[in-house]
Amino acid sequence: MPQWVHNYRGSIKIDIDTCTACRLCYEELPEIFSDRGDGIPIVYAKVVTESLIERVFQIAQDCPSGSIILE
Ligand code: SF4
Repeated sequence: MPQWVHNYRGSIKIDIDTCTACRLCYEELPEIFSDRGDGIPIVYAKVVTESLIERVFQIAQDCPSGSIILE
């Protein structure tokens, strides 16, 4: 894992204008994301523990519409 991933202290946002509600993020990472009820995810985790950081970066890469924004 690259060093910058260890140092990640940013926020996770969903671009609901581009999200296609494919369900991937909350099916793969339910510790962080949840379905708000209409297929669009919400980020409900207040803290991303170090053990989940790598998976968060991976799911942001895997999102087919690039709608998971790490800032
Ligand atoms: S993986 Fe991307 S497109 Fe699919 S539900 Fe999550 S944010 Fe939306």
